[in-house]
Amino acid sequence: INARVAMETELQKALVNCEFRMYYQVQIDSQGRPKGAEALLRWQHPRFGLITPTQFIALAEETGLIVPLGNWILESACAQLEQWERDDLTRNLVLSVNVSAKQFSQPDFVDHLSEIINRHRIEPGLLELELTESLLLDNIDEAIQTMDRLRELGIRFSLDDFGTGYSSLQYLKRLPLNELKIDRSFVRDIAWNSSDRAIVSTIIAMAQSFGLEVIAEGVETEEQRQLLLDKGCTLFQGYLFSKPVPIEQFELKLEGFATSLS
Ligand code: C2E
Ligand code: CA
Ligand code: CA
Repeated sequence: INARVAMETELQKALVNCEFRMYYQVQIDSQGRPKGAEALLRWQHPRFGLITPTQFIALAEETGLIVPLGNWILESACAQLEQWERDDLTRNLVLSVNVSAKQFSQPDFVDHLSEIINRHRIEPGLLELELTESLLLDNIDEAIQTMDRLRELGIRFSLDDFGTGYSSLQYLKRLPLNELKIDRSFVRDIAWNSSDRAIVSTIIAMAQSFGLEVIAEGVETEEQRQLLLDKGCTLFQGYLFSKPVPIEQFELKLEGFATSLS
């Protein structure tokens, strides 16, 4: 209990002291071109160093701190898209942002996000929200309503960690999604586990018949990329291309991708 309380106090301080950072991990299309990036949160603690989100997101959710933190994440994502618009190399990149359940179910979520988008004057089609099945299943009707309103603004949706939850076709057909994201647990063993290969094939076929894009996360080897490509997956993310990195490094890597293609 003491450790939790200490951590909660630290999280609160971190927000005030601006200790959070966004890291960016590139997403690559079948031709090896950067299509966009996923923004991943990091906590740069003055004494403990870099802390990954798995160590504090759950507590931020439980304590409600995820709401101001989530607002900061959206603010920083839209500010980044505004910056990217100024450069030919980055102008068309789609930025994906993870949204947590408590954040998404705030009654003013849509108004708040639309205010941020307008203030930064960004193209809403370049912002993609990554939602999980458990987030949607909490209250499916309300979630769909919120998604529909955001979709009207032009915002894109990707269903994260796909295949790990219930993946009910009944709700899948009702969701205004653009993309399914194959969970990295299936990608990890795809080369030698025939069940995982079958699951991946099914997810890709399902995405195609629903008219959705499909991206594989956690792609670490060329063999995995090739197997996924053979099955019809055209978007990839993982250490094979890059780890999540700070913005300066991300932009340097982009230049690298551009020169290796030309
Ligand atoms: P996620 O959304 O499933 O993010 C993918 C995780 O896989 C990231 O971990 C990423 O660093 C890691 N990853 C990417 N490529 C590879 C790979 O090739 N191999 C392996 N082994 N791992 C790879 P990370 O950054 O530690 O984030 C963990 C989770 O924390 C995320 O899982 C997401 O659920 C949550 N999270 C991260 N950033 C945010 C945020 O801004 N808001 C919210 N609400 N949650 C976030
Ligand atoms: Ca994600
Ligand atoms: Ca994921």
